[in-house]
Amino acid sequence: MTTDATRPVRRCPICGKPRAEAHSPFCSTRCRDRDLVKWLDEGYALPGRPADVDPED
Ligand SMILES: [Zn+2]
Repeated sequence: MTTDATRPVRRCPICGKPRAEAHSPFCSTRCRDRDLVKWLDEGYALPGRPADVDPED
């Protein structure tokens, strides 16, 4: 089989492994979760969190 040579291999953006169709575009649920954590870690503000909202607003 040479199917890998005829089309570009889509890789998981998290770990670089070939992705799994079931978890596209990631290779696994673990990497998908890690991507989500990365987004949150970059300071994405979650709406509806009154505990962290500045009272001056
Ligand atoms: Zn991965």
